[in-house]
Amino acid sequence: MAKHFDYICIGGGSGGIASANRAAMHGAKVALIEAKHLGGTCVNVGCVPKKVMWHGAQVAEALNLYAPDYGFDVEVKGFDWSTLINNREAYIGRIHKAYENVLGKNNIDVIHGFARFVDNKTVEVDGEHYTADHILIAVGGTPTIPNIPGAEHGIDSDGFFALTEQPKRVAVVGAGYIAVEIAGVLHALGSDTHLFVRKDRPLRSFDPLVTDTLVEVMEKEGPTLHTQSVPVSVTKESDGSLTLAFENGTTHNTDTLIWAIGRHPTTDKINLAATDVQTTADGYIKVDPYQTTSVPGIYCVGDIMDGGIELTPVAVKAGRLLSERLFNGQSEAKMDYDLVPTVVFSHPPIGTIGLTEPEARAKYGDDNIKVYTSTFAAMYTAVTQHRQPCKMKLVCAGDDEKVVGLHGIGFTVDEMIQGFAVAMKMGATKADFDSVVAIHPTGSEEFVTMR
Ligand code: FAD
Ligand code: NDP
Repeated sequence: MAKHFDYICIGGGSGGIASANRAAMHGAKVALIEAKHLGGTCVNVGCVPKKVMWHGAQVAEALNLYAPDYGFDVEVKGFDWSTLINNREAYIGRIHKAYENVLGKNNIDVIHGFARFVDNKTVEVDGEHYTADHILIAVGGTPTIPNIPGAEHGIDSDGFFALTEQPKRVAVVGAGYIAVEIAGVLHALGSDTHLFVRKDRPLRSFDPLVTDTLVEVMEKEGPTLHTQSVPVSVTKESDGSLTLAFENGTTHNTDTLIWAIGRHPTTDKINLAATDVQTTADGYIKVDPYQTTSVPGIYCVGDIMDGGIELTPVAVKAGRLLSERLFNGQSEAKMDYDLVPTVVFSHPPIGTIGLTEPEARAKYGDDNIKVYTSTFAAMYTAVTQHRQPCKMKLVCAGDDEKVVGLHGIGFTVDEMIQGFAVAMKMGATKADFDSVVAIHPTGSEEFVTMR
């Protein structure tokens, strides 16, 4: 006999947990199925451990780069990788406990195991069958490894978080968020770090002001950036080191190789063939604007959604809104994927909302775009030998100069942009930005004083 629920969420990551809790808060009888650890990618091998490592890197930079010019005679006797890793994992353990508590309070049945579909209404976990009126698929993605000889000698971002020792020499291959963030962290913590991108720069989809500045800072402060480097093979040498060969004929020898070339959905393992759920050729699930798949009663949120945005708050919000619609009578509740703010925890950090300047020019035409920029040395660094640029840009469209793009790179930009996203969601114009009194002396005041 199959056990029946109002709602089954497959995947206890960002989207699944958020949706399950919200549904239960509205009285639904909910099961959450998780194959590994509660919290999914974000908590276990994503945002959380990454941000802890980034904070570690910030401490290293404060001690090594900035403290001396602030008058501190600091002698750093060493850095113990395992202390940082142990404290990080203990913190993640506390998050697991907090999640278990909330799920328990909401009377959600947490089923530990790997779910596979049996039909459009039934899933199976370890031989047990479960049915539900509504089923959410939120199984997330996994890192992609290139299909080249010797690729298996490298690790991915999951492997990075599993490292028990700090690598002395690292090669990071990739050009997105993960490559830039991991390379920045390892470099700041003292590993000899090389970042290999296959085109002219990392983060190519970001505004050019941001990527130009990132490349400028990398050239000055590291990690060592190698452009136009398409990997073709990896060879394990007799001393255990790895030699990467590139299409341009160059080679690079390293101790640790990290692939960070993107992620792909794990929908191939859940027996979607037993359902009528449609996917794209590469496994992303097709949904309508209400997160419903091609099967009424089966929904999808998060990284596996076709056309989605691979960010935790996006999965969380989509999951919660879906539950508001299904279990709280909000029949029109749906996720708005426009103007999603995002931060890259690079060195320095990047914050961006809305259209890049090239995107805005293509959409509105050159004559309808006005761009404002600001460049200065971040004050924290300005009194030191390691002056670091902070650059900002507002992209405005139309006669009323509606702010359609906001971009920044520099010290604490990561903490500056959330509120500006509210303003942009409300349709703020440049005049609205100008009407606000600046907070001085801060970096964020530049966003409301640009001329
Ligand atoms: P996940 O969080 O991946 O959860 C899916 C869950 O489903 C997993 O726990 C998995 O074990 C489980 N599962 C899979 N198959 C089954 C099955 N058949 N049965 C049962 N359970 C199953 N986003 C940000 O917003 N900010 C960041 O700073 C950030 N940093 C990141 C850093 C890294 C290194 C990575 C890899 C990602 C980062 N992200 C960040 C992205 C973010 O982690 C994801 O967008 C988010 O976790 C997606 O949530 P999800 O619910 O779609 O899937
Ligand atoms: P991304 O999709 O962001 O970037 C991967 C990049 O690697 C591609 O854009 C491509 O860049 C390059 N690449 C692709 N294939 C190859 C190849 N065969 N060889 C060399 N380079 C290749 O993926 P990530 O894995 O970095 O991150 C996945 C997602 O997770 C992100 O998009 C983001 O949404 C999320 N994330 C969010 C974070 C945050 O919020 N701070 C942090 C980390 C992840 P190009 O075409 O320029 O070569």
